Amino acid sequence: MSTKYIFVTGGVTSSLGKGILIASLAKLLQARGYKVTIQKLDPYINVDPGTLNPYEHGECYVTDDGAETDLDLGHYERFLNKPTSQANNVTTGRIYQSVINKERRGDYLGKTVQIIPHITDEIKRNIKLLGNKGKYDFVLTEIGGTVGDMESLPYIEAVRQLKWELGKSAMVIHLTLVPFLKASGELKTKPTQHSVKALLENGVQPDILVLRTEHDLGEGIRKKVALFCNVDPDAVVQSIDVPTIYEVPLKMREEKLDYIVLKKFEMTMGKEPSLDAWNSFLTKHKIPEHEVVIGLIGKYVELPDAYKSITESFIHAGATNQCKVELKFIHSEEVNRRNAAEILAGLDGILVAPGFGHRGIKGKIEATKFARENNIPFLGICLGMQVAVIEFARNVLNMKGADSTEMNEVTKFPVIDLMEEQKGITNMGGTMRLGSFACEVKVDSKLFDAYQKDLIYERHRHRYEFNDKYLKDFESNGLKAVGTNPDTGLVEALQLDNHQWFVGVQYHPEYSSTVLSPSPLFVEFVKACIPKTKL
Ligand code: GLN
Repeated sequence: MSTKYIFVTGGVTSSLGKGILIASLAKLLQARGYKVTIQKLDPYINVDPGTLNPYEHGECYVTDDGAETDLDLGHYERFLNKPTSQANNVTTGRIYQSVINKERRGDYLGKTVQIIPHITDEIKRNIKLLGNKGKYDFVLTEIGGTVGDMESLPYIEAVRQLKWELGKSAMVIHLTLVPFLKASGELKTKPTQHSVKALLENGVQPDILVLRTEHDLGEGIRKKVALFCNVDPDAVVQSIDVPTIYEVPLKMREEKLDYIVLKKFEMTMGKEPSLDAWNSFLTKHKIPEHEVVIGLIGKYVELPDAYKSITESFIHAGATNQCKVELKFIHSEEVNRRNAAEILAGLDGILVAPGFGHRGIKGKIEATKFARENNIPFLGICLGMQVAVIEFARNVLNMKGADSTEMNEVTKFPVIDLMEEQKGITNMGGTMRLGSFACEVKVDSKLFDAYQKDLIYERHRHRYEFNDKYLKDFESNGLKAVGTNPDTGLVEALQLDNHQWFVGVQYHPEYSSTVLSPSPLFVEFVKACIPKTKL
């Protein structure tokens, strides 16, 4: 069977949830026994989002193979429970870089290099790359941005060409918004009509329309949209607001989106999608037996998307523990020595978030000190672990001014220091310690309790590391290495003695947490946060 290509475009506004829609459809096709993968094409000129401030597009998601990617890839993995890779995220910057490299090599044999056909050919090559080896029955490609944006034009053109080339093996799903006008009490279809018109101007006729709405659409609206947009009435699907993104696959199932897709491709329906495990997760999520409040201390808390994978990991780990996790986002710049007790009062657990640079470090140190001294469950991730090391050095080991050389290059006690291989690096893009690395786990540790394995693999994104020179001082005073990299000896995880649960990890457990395989470390952390009297 030849690979089928499904493109998802968006119209009217951004943030309609193309990523969740495409992940939900892929989930349903996967549940019917098909092999699927999802790709995101981002129209910005950055080669990858690694150099972007999280305020721009939210979290930078890291894959096993060390690609720094768009946060939507996190959703793809969380829904499909399958790893993605560099090939699953392509940006305009990457496309142009590749075309320009070819031009410099002379590959174009003296031709004028142009958007059509050279840029569009490169886009098409990147889309087909995933389908090439027959590994997948479906390649689903999300086109970032909104139809009508100048930046997305080459992508829409590539979709037009591919639809032409692939014929019945390609399909376009267009996601739009049907706003509800309170004053007149009406749902309005005009923005959808205009958005489809914009697609048609670029030569692309959508096959299926998914209409995001706050209210049930009813037959009338569906028929009207079908008529104006040249789409079968049964291919107009509504996507109504739901309390959690994890309900969207069920809603799409009710709307028969998977059925419509398979019918249009003239494919066998396969077995009815089995979503038992998914449903049982949802039940546990919706009917919790416990409730905890965990403080997330970070400097991007105004924008929760900056911590997307962490937020979702708590949902997965919460469900496993049948526990509702209320996350309290606390701005690290607001916490100081005087107000820490007041701001952090009542928390069942404290998580110190990953990050870069000096801003907000003081507050993170105070929050960590508060958790250490008050026996409050603590998880430090990446910079969060490094902060735990700095705090311990300053306040327990009496190393005055101990710091990471990221914050203070000339500190007397560089307890966190630049990794050897990072010294001399001047290019910032894609040069951190990135992707999956092994970690040997000490038995008889909180880490082992969580993973139940002595060798684990987790993803990384950092330049600085625990400075081994000080390990003895730390260990003899109770902060012990419980995870190390078997090849380099690099400290991957630390645990504090005489504390109910205090763990810092240099890696990012949140990237590999999915609905069906929640992160063991988050599961244990949430468990530790549930007051013992309630267990
Ligand atoms: N800034 C730190 C480093 O580069 C931590 C990075 C992170 O938290 N992802 O090592």
